[in-house]
Amino acid sequence: MTSTRRPFNFSPGPAAVPEEVLTQVAAEMLDWQGSGMSVMEMSHRGKEFGAIHEAAERDLRELLQVPANFRILFMQGGGLGENAIVPLNLSRGGAVDVVVTGAWSRKSAGEARRYADVKIASDSANADGRYQTLTAPASWQLRREASYVHVCTNETIDGLEFHQLPDLKALGSDAPLAIDCSSHILSRSLDWSRVGLAFAGAQKNIGPAGLTLVAVREDLLGHALPICPSAFNYQTVAENHSMFNTPPTFAIYVAGLVFQWIKRFQYAGKTGLAAIEQRNIDKAALLYQALDGSSLFENRVAPEARSRMNVPFFLRDERLNDDFLAGAKARGLLQLKGHKSVGGMRASIYNAMPMEGVQALVSYLKDFETQHG
Ligand code: PMP
Repeated sequence: MTSTRRPFNFSPGPAAVPEEVLTQVAAEMLDWQGSGMSVMEMSHRGKEFGAIHEAAERDLRELLQVPANFRILFMQGGGLGENAIVPLNLSRGGAVDVVVTGAWSRKSAGEARRYADVKIASDSANADGRYQTLTAPASWQLRREASYVHVCTNETIDGLEFHQLPDLKALGSDAPLAIDCSSHILSRSLDWSRVGLAFAGAQKNIGPAGLTLVAVREDLLGHALPICPSAFNYQTVAENHSMFNTPPTFAIYVAGLVFQWIKRFQYAGKTGLAAIEQRNIDKAALLYQALDGSSLFENRVAPEARSRMNVPFFLRDERLNDDFLAGAKARGLLQLKGHKSVGGMRASIYNAMPMEGVQALVSYLKDFETQHG
Protein backbone atom coordinates (compact mmCIF):
# COMPACT_ATOMS: atom_id res chain seq x y z
CA MET A 1 0.00 0.00 0.00
CA THR A 2 1.24 3.49 -0.76
CA SER A 3 1.37 5.89 2.16
CA THR A 4 0.26 9.04 0.33
CA ARG A 5 -3.27 9.03 -0.94
CA ARG A 6 -3.70 8.92 -4.72
CA PRO A 7 -6.12 11.47 -6.19
CA PHE A 8 -9.75 10.42 -6.55
CA ASN A 9 -10.39 9.66 -10.20
CA PHE A 10 -13.92 10.31 -11.49
CA SER A 11 -13.18 9.29 -15.09
CA PRO A 12 -16.07 7.73 -17.04
CA GLY A 13 -13.67 5.21 -18.54
CA PRO A 14 -11.04 4.02 -18.77
CA ALA A 15 -11.64 4.50 -15.09
CA ALA A 16 -10.15 3.99 -11.66
CA VAL A 17 -9.03 0.49 -10.70
CA PRO A 18 -8.98 -0.58 -7.02
CA GLU A 19 -5.63 0.46 -5.56
CA GLU A 20 -5.14 -2.98 -4.03
CA VAL A 21 -5.34 -4.49 -7.51
CA LEU A 22 -2.89 -2.00 -9.00
CA THR A 23 -0.47 -2.75 -6.17
CA GLN A 24 -0.72 -6.49 -6.80
CA VAL A 25 -0.27 -6.02 -10.55
CA ALA A 26 2.85 -3.95 -9.88
CA ALA A 27 4.25 -6.57 -7.49
CA GLU A 28 3.67 -9.37 -10.01
CA MET A 29 4.74 -7.42 -13.08
CA LEU A 30 8.17 -8.96 -13.58
CA ASP A 31 7.50 -12.41 -12.19
CA TRP A 32 4.00 -13.81 -11.89
CA GLN A 33 3.95 -16.22 -8.96
CA GLY A 34 7.43 -17.61 -9.51
CA SER A 35 6.85 -18.34 -13.19
CA GLY A 36 9.71 -16.05 -14.23
CA MET A 37 7.32 -14.26 -16.60
CA SER A 38 5.09 -11.24 -16.65
CA VAL A 39 1.50 -12.23 -17.47
CA MET A 40 1.79 -10.21 -20.68
CA GLU A 41 4.68 -12.43 -21.75
CA MET A 42 2.84 -15.73 -21.34
CA SER A 43 1.39 -17.86 -24.09
CA HIS A 44 -2.38 -17.74 -23.92
CA ARG A 45 -2.30 -21.52 -24.32
CA GLY A 46 0.16 -22.20 -21.53
CA LYS A 47 -0.88 -23.68 -18.18
CA GLU A 48 -0.13 -20.48 -16.24
CA PHE A 49 -2.45 -18.32 -18.30
CA GLY A 50 -4.93 -21.18 -18.50
CA ALA A 51 -5.25 -21.07 -14.72
CA ILE A 52 -5.67 -17.28 -14.71
CA HIS A 53 -8.35 -17.45 -17.39
CA GLU A 54 -10.28 -20.27 -15.73
CA ALA A 55 -10.28 -18.56 -12.34
CA ALA A 56 -11.47 -15.28 -13.90
CA GLU A 57 -14.35 -17.00 -15.65
CA ARG A 58 -15.32 -19.01 -12.58
CA ASP A 59 -15.24 -15.94 -10.34
CA LEU A 60 -17.29 -13.85 -12.76
CA ARG A 61 -19.87 -16.63 -13.05
CA GLU A 62 -20.07 -16.88 -9.28
CA LEU A 63 -20.23 -13.13 -8.64
CA LEU A 64 -22.98 -12.47 -11.16
CA GLN A 65 -24.69 -15.84 -10.66
CA VAL A 66 -24.53 -16.49 -14.39
CA PRO A 67 -26.71 -19.56 -15.09
CA ALA A 68 -25.18 -22.72 -16.55
CA ASN A 69 -26.97 -22.25 -19.88
CA PHE A 70 -25.07 -19.02 -20.54
CA ARG A 71 -21.60 -19.03 -22.08
CA ILE A 72 -19.12 -16.41 -20.91
CA LEU A 73 -16.87 -15.06 -23.65
CA PHE A 74 -13.77 -12.91 -23.25
CA MET A 75 -13.55 -10.92 -26.45
CA GLN A 76 -12.03 -7.86 -28.07
CA GLY A 77 -13.87 -5.11 -29.89
CA GLY A 78 -15.27 -3.02 -27.04
CA GLY A 79 -18.79 -1.70 -26.68
CA LEU A 80 -18.91 -0.20 -30.15
CA GLY A 81 -17.57 -3.42 -31.62
CA GLU A 82 -20.40 -5.30 -29.92
CA ASN A 83 -22.88 -2.92 -31.54
CA ALA A 84 -21.97 -4.72 -34.77
CA ILE A 85 -21.12 -8.13 -33.34
CA VAL A 86 -24.51 -8.55 -31.65
CA PRO A 87 -26.59 -7.98 -34.82
CA LEU A 88 -24.12 -10.06 -36.83
CA ASN A 89 -24.80 -12.96 -34.46
CA LEU A 90 -28.40 -12.51 -33.39
CA SER A 91 -30.33 -10.60 -36.02
CA ARG A 92 -30.44 -13.30 -38.75
CA GLY A 93 -30.66 -10.26 -41.01
CA GLY A 94 -34.18 -9.61 -39.78
CA ALA A 95 -35.89 -7.31 -37.32
CA VAL A 96 -34.14 -5.69 -34.35
CA ASP A 97 -35.94 -3.41 -31.90
CA VAL A 98 -33.86 -0.82 -30.06
CA VAL A 99 -34.92 1.20 -27.05
CA VAL A 100 -33.17 4.56 -27.24
CA THR A 101 -32.51 6.08 -23.84
CA GLY A 102 -29.34 8.06 -24.52
CA ALA A 103 -26.21 8.44 -26.58
CA TRP A 104 -25.03 4.84 -26.40
CA SER A 105 -28.27 3.11 -27.34
CA ARG A 106 -28.70 5.62 -30.15
CA LYS A 107 -25.29 4.60 -31.48
CA SER A 108 -26.20 0.93 -31.13
CA ALA A 109 -29.28 1.48 -33.28
CA GLY A 110 -27.21 3.20 -35.96
CA GLU A 111 -24.69 0.39 -36.15
CA ALA A 112 -27.26 -2.41 -36.12
CA ARG A 113 -28.96 -0.74 -39.08
CA ARG A 114 -26.02 -1.84 -41.24
CA TYR A 115 -27.00 -5.49 -40.71
CA ALA A 116 -30.66 -5.59 -39.78
CA ASP A 117 -34.04 -3.95 -40.07
CA VAL A 118 -33.93 -1.70 -37.02
CA LYS A 119 -36.94 -0.13 -35.41
CA ILE A 120 -36.73 2.34 -32.55
CA ALA A 121 -39.20 0.88 -30.08
CA SER A 122 -39.04 4.00 -27.94
CA ASP A 123 -36.97 7.17 -27.80
CA SER A 124 -37.03 9.07 -24.54
CA ALA A 125 -35.37 12.27 -25.78
CA ASN A 126 -37.12 15.43 -24.61
CA ALA A 127 -37.95 18.39 -26.85
CA ASP A 128 -34.34 19.62 -26.59
CA GLY A 129 -33.00 16.22 -27.59
CA ARG A 130 -31.79 15.54 -24.02
CA TYR A 131 -32.12 12.23 -22.22
CA GLN A 132 -33.36 12.76 -18.68
CA THR A 133 -36.00 10.11 -18.23
CA LEU A 134 -36.76 6.48 -19.16
CA THR A 135 -39.96 5.42 -20.88
CA ALA A 136 -42.13 2.72 -19.30
CA PRO A 137 -41.54 -0.66 -20.99
CA ALA A 138 -45.31 -1.03 -21.42
CA SER A 139 -45.16 1.90 -23.88
CA TRP A 140 -42.45 0.32 -26.08
CA GLN A 141 -43.50 -0.61 -29.58
CA LEU A 142 -42.08 -4.08 -29.86
CA ARG A 143 -42.44 -6.17 -32.98
CA ARG A 144 -43.51 -9.77 -32.77
CA GLU A 145 -40.87 -10.76 -35.34
CA ALA A 146 -37.93 -9.02 -33.62
CA SER A 147 -34.88 -11.28 -33.32
CA TYR A 148 -33.84 -9.37 -30.21
CA VAL A 149 -34.46 -6.15 -28.31
CA HIS A 150 -31.51 -3.94 -27.46
CA VAL A 151 -31.40 -1.89 -24.25
CA CYS A 152 -28.48 0.03 -22.77
CA THR A 153 -29.02 -0.55 -19.07
CA ASN A 154 -26.77 2.29 -17.96
CA GLU A 155 -26.32 5.31 -20.20
CA THR A 156 -22.82 6.49 -19.30
CA ILE A 157 -23.04 9.92 -20.92
CA ASP A 158 -26.55 10.92 -19.92
CA GLY A 159 -26.48 9.32 -16.47
CA LEU A 160 -29.58 7.13 -16.66
CA GLU A 161 -29.91 3.59 -15.35
CA PHE A 162 -32.53 0.87 -15.49
CA HIS A 163 -33.02 -0.16 -11.88
CA GLN A 164 -35.15 -3.07 -13.05
CA LEU A 165 -34.70 -4.93 -16.27
CA PRO A 166 -37.76 -4.95 -18.53
CA ASP A 167 -39.68 -8.22 -18.53
CA LEU A 168 -40.22 -8.70 -22.26
CA LYS A 169 -42.29 -11.83 -21.74
CA ALA A 170 -44.77 -9.89 -19.64
CA LEU A 171 -44.98 -7.42 -22.54
CA GLY A 172 -45.96 -10.24 -24.90
CA SER A 173 -42.58 -10.51 -26.62
CA ASP A 174 -40.60 -13.72 -27.05
CA ALA A 175 -37.53 -11.88 -28.27
CA PRO A 176 -34.38 -12.15 -26.18
CA LEU A 177 -33.23 -8.99 -24.47
CA ALA A 178 -29.67 -7.92 -25.37
CA ILE A 179 -28.20 -5.47 -22.89
CA ASP A 180 -25.22 -3.16 -23.07
CA CYS A 181 -24.23 -3.07 -19.41
CA SER A 182 -20.74 -1.68 -20.03
CA SER A 183 -20.90 1.02 -17.42
CA HIS A 184 -22.63 -0.78 -14.55
CA ILE A 185 -21.62 -4.41 -14.85
CA LEU A 186 -20.75 -5.86 -11.45
CA SER A 187 -22.10 -2.80 -9.67
CA ARG A 188 -25.26 -4.77 -8.82
CA SER A 189 -26.80 -8.16 -9.35
CA LEU A 190 -28.37 -9.05 -12.68
CA ASP A 191 -31.66 -10.86 -13.33
CA TRP A 192 -30.64 -13.39 -15.99
CA SER A 193 -34.20 -14.67 -16.38
CA ARG A 194 -34.91 -11.47 -18.33
CA VAL A 195 -31.76 -11.48 -20.46
CA GLY A 196 -30.58 -13.37 -23.53
CA LEU A 197 -27.26 -11.63 -23.96
CA ALA A 198 -25.24 -9.13 -21.95
CA PHE A 199 -22.08 -7.38 -23.05
CA ALA A 200 -19.73 -4.95 -21.38
CA GLY A 201 -16.45 -3.28 -22.15
CA ALA A 202 -14.13 -3.79 -19.20
CA GLN A 203 -12.69 -0.30 -18.91
CA LYS A 204 -15.20 1.14 -16.45
CA ASN A 205 -16.05 -1.25 -13.66
CA ILE A 206 -13.55 -3.98 -14.30
CA GLY A 207 -10.10 -3.13 -15.57
CA PRO A 208 -8.05 -2.23 -18.61
CA ALA A 209 -9.59 -1.36 -21.96
CA GLY A 210 -9.31 -4.02 -24.64
CA LEU A 211 -11.39 -6.71 -22.97
CA THR A 212 -15.09 -7.12 -23.69
CA LEU A 213 -17.21 -9.51 -21.67
CA VAL A 214 -20.13 -11.29 -23.26
CA ALA A 215 -22.57 -13.65 -21.59
CA VAL A 216 -24.87 -15.29 -24.10
CA ARG A 217 -27.62 -17.86 -23.70
CA GLU A 218 -26.65 -21.07 -25.45
CA ASP A 219 -29.72 -21.27 -27.66
CA LEU A 220 -28.72 -17.96 -29.28
CA LEU A 221 -25.45 -19.38 -30.59
CA GLY A 222 -25.06 -20.67 -34.12
CA HIS A 223 -27.09 -18.12 -36.06
CA ALA A 224 -24.36 -15.72 -37.19
CA LEU A 225 -24.65 -14.11 -40.61
CA PRO A 226 -22.20 -15.51 -43.18
CA ILE A 227 -20.40 -12.15 -43.27
CA CYS A 228 -19.66 -12.29 -39.53
CA PRO A 229 -15.88 -12.44 -38.98
CA SER A 230 -14.91 -15.79 -37.43
CA ALA A 231 -13.23 -14.10 -34.47
CA PHE A 232 -16.54 -12.40 -33.68
CA ASN A 233 -18.79 -15.41 -34.20
CA TYR A 234 -20.07 -16.20 -30.72
CA GLN A 235 -20.36 -19.90 -31.47
CA THR A 236 -16.76 -20.08 -32.69
CA VAL A 237 -15.54 -18.10 -29.70
CA ALA A 238 -17.56 -20.29 -27.31
CA GLU A 239 -16.41 -23.56 -28.90
CA ASN A 240 -12.82 -22.41 -28.54
CA HIS A 241 -13.24 -21.28 -24.94
CA SER A 242 -12.38 -17.66 -25.94
CA MET A 243 -9.13 -18.90 -27.49
CA PHE A 244 -10.05 -18.87 -31.19
CA ASN A 245 -7.78 -15.85 -31.47
CA THR A 246 -5.40 -14.50 -28.84
CA PRO A 247 -7.59 -12.96 -26.16
CA PRO A 248 -6.52 -9.77 -24.34
CA THR A 249 -4.52 -11.76 -21.82
CA PHE A 250 -3.23 -8.99 -19.59
CA ALA A 251 -6.65 -7.37 -19.34
CA ILE A 252 -8.18 -10.76 -18.42
CA TYR A 253 -5.58 -11.15 -15.69
CA VAL A 254 -6.36 -7.72 -14.22
CA ALA A 255 -10.10 -8.38 -14.54
CA GLY A 256 -9.58 -11.60 -12.60
CA LEU A 257 -7.88 -9.70 -9.79
CA VAL A 258 -10.78 -7.25 -9.73
CA PHE A 259 -13.23 -10.17 -9.47
CA GLN A 260 -11.28 -11.48 -6.48
CA TRP A 261 -11.30 -8.00 -4.95
CA ILE A 262 -15.09 -7.88 -5.27
CA LYS A 263 -15.44 -11.38 -3.79
CA ARG A 264 -13.64 -10.36 -0.60
CA PHE A 265 -15.12 -6.84 -0.44
CA GLN A 266 -16.94 -6.07 2.80
CA TYR A 267 -19.30 -3.23 3.59
CA ALA A 268 -22.21 -2.68 5.94
CA GLY A 269 -22.16 -6.27 7.18
CA LYS A 270 -22.27 -7.65 3.64
CA THR A 271 -19.66 -9.40 1.52
CA GLY A 272 -18.97 -9.55 -2.21
CA LEU A 273 -21.29 -8.13 -4.84
CA ALA A 274 -24.00 -7.36 -2.25
CA ALA A 275 -21.47 -5.23 -0.36
CA ILE A 276 -20.35 -3.45 -3.53
CA GLU A 277 -23.96 -2.78 -4.48
CA GLN A 278 -24.79 -1.39 -1.04
CA ARG A 279 -21.80 0.92 -1.12
CA ASN A 280 -22.78 2.06 -4.62
CA ILE A 281 -26.29 2.84 -3.35
CA ASP A 282 -24.88 4.84 -0.45
CA LYS A 283 -22.30 6.71 -2.53
CA ALA A 284 -24.90 7.72 -5.12
CA ALA A 285 -27.39 8.80 -2.44
CA LEU A 286 -24.78 11.01 -0.81
CA LEU A 287 -23.88 12.74 -4.07
CA TYR A 288 -27.44 13.20 -5.36
CA GLN A 289 -28.55 14.56 -1.98
CA ALA A 290 -25.76 17.13 -2.08
CA LEU A 291 -26.69 18.17 -5.62
CA ASP A 292 -30.42 18.34 -4.86
CA GLY A 293 -29.77 20.40 -1.75
CA SER A 294 -27.61 22.91 -3.60
CA SER A 295 -28.60 26.24 -5.13
CA LEU A 296 -25.51 26.28 -7.35
CA PHE A 297 -25.37 22.72 -8.70
CA GLU A 298 -28.05 20.54 -10.23
CA ASN A 299 -28.62 17.10 -11.71
CA ARG A 300 -31.41 17.07 -14.28
CA VAL A 301 -32.26 13.37 -14.50
CA ALA A 302 -35.62 12.16 -13.18
CA PRO A 303 -34.91 10.69 -9.72
CA GLU A 304 -36.18 7.19 -10.54
CA ALA A 305 -33.90 6.98 -13.60
CA ARG A 306 -30.71 8.31 -12.03
CA SER A 307 -27.60 6.24 -12.49
CA ARG A 308 -25.64 5.05 -9.47
CA MET A 309 -22.51 5.08 -11.60
CA ASN A 310 -22.49 8.24 -13.71
CA VAL A 311 -23.73 11.48 -12.22
CA PRO A 312 -23.85 14.41 -14.65
CA PHE A 313 -24.30 17.78 -13.00
CA PHE A 314 -24.32 21.40 -13.98
CA LEU A 315 -23.35 24.68 -12.39
CA ARG A 316 -26.28 27.04 -12.70
CA ASP A 317 -23.72 29.69 -13.64
CA GLU A 318 -21.74 27.99 -16.40
CA ARG A 319 -19.11 30.73 -16.33
CA LEU A 320 -17.78 29.08 -13.19
CA ASN A 321 -17.07 25.75 -14.93
CA ASP A 322 -13.35 26.29 -15.46
CA ASP A 323 -12.83 27.56 -11.91
CA PHE A 324 -14.69 24.55 -10.60
CA LEU A 325 -12.54 22.08 -12.53
CA ALA A 326 -9.28 23.81 -11.60
CA GLY A 327 -10.24 23.84 -7.92
CA ALA A 328 -11.24 20.17 -8.11
CA LYS A 329 -7.91 19.21 -9.59
CA ALA A 330 -6.07 21.14 -6.90
CA ARG A 331 -7.92 19.03 -4.31
CA GLY A 332 -7.06 15.78 -6.05
CA LEU A 333 -10.48 15.29 -7.65
CA LEU A 334 -9.72 14.33 -11.24
CA GLN A 335 -11.56 14.02 -14.57
CA LEU A 336 -14.85 15.66 -13.59
CA LYS A 337 -15.50 17.41 -16.89
CA GLY A 338 -18.80 16.39 -18.47
CA HIS A 339 -19.11 14.76 -21.89
CA LYS A 340 -18.92 17.35 -24.66
CA SER A 341 -22.39 16.45 -25.94
CA VAL A 342 -23.98 17.17 -22.55
CA GLY A 343 -21.67 19.78 -21.07
CA GLY A 344 -21.26 20.60 -17.41
CA MET A 345 -19.67 18.05 -15.11
CA ARG A 346 -19.92 14.32 -14.62
CA ALA A 347 -18.77 12.29 -11.65
CA SER A 348 -18.35 8.62 -12.47
CA ILE A 349 -18.41 6.72 -9.22
CA TYR A 350 -17.80 3.14 -10.24
CA ASN A 351 -17.03 0.26 -7.88
CA ALA A 352 -13.42 1.33 -7.36
CA MET A 353 -14.41 4.79 -6.07
CA PRO A 354 -14.25 4.69 -2.28
CA MET A 355 -16.84 6.42 -0.10
CA GLU A 356 -14.09 8.88 0.89
CA GLY A 357 -13.86 9.99 -2.75
CA VAL A 358 -17.55 10.89 -2.86
CA GLN A 359 -17.29 12.57 0.54
CA ALA A 360 -14.34 14.64 -0.74
CA LEU A 361 -16.35 15.66 -3.81
CA VAL A 362 -19.39 16.58 -1.71
CA SER A 363 -17.31 18.69 0.64
CA TYR A 364 -15.75 20.43 -2.37
CA LEU A 365 -19.23 21.14 -3.77
CA LYS A 366 -20.21 22.73 -0.46
CA ASP A 367 -17.04 24.80 -0.18
CA PHE A 368 -17.33 25.97 -3.78
CA GLU A 369 -20.93 26.99 -3.21
CA THR A 370 -20.02 28.91 -0.07
CA GLN A 371 -17.36 30.78 -2.05
CA HIS A 372 -19.52 31.50 -5.07
CA GLY A 373 -23.10 31.21 -3.89
N1 PMP B 1 -21.60 1.42 -24.40
C1 PMP B 1 -21.52 2.14 -23.28
C2 PMP B 1 -22.67 2.11 -22.32
C3 PMP B 1 -20.39 2.91 -23.01
O1 PMP B 1 -20.32 3.63 -21.90
C4 PMP B 1 -19.32 2.90 -23.93
C5 PMP B 1 -18.03 3.66 -23.69
N2 PMP B 1 -18.11 4.80 -22.96
C6 PMP B 1 -19.45 2.16 -25.10
C7 PMP B 1 -20.60 1.42 -25.30
C8 PMP B 1 -18.38 2.15 -26.13
O2 PMP B 1 -17.32 1.41 -25.68
P1 PMP B 1 -15.95 1.30 -26.49
O3 PMP B 1 -15.32 2.65 -26.48
O4 PMP B 1 -15.22 0.26 -25.73
O5 PMP B 1 -16.27 0.87 -27.87
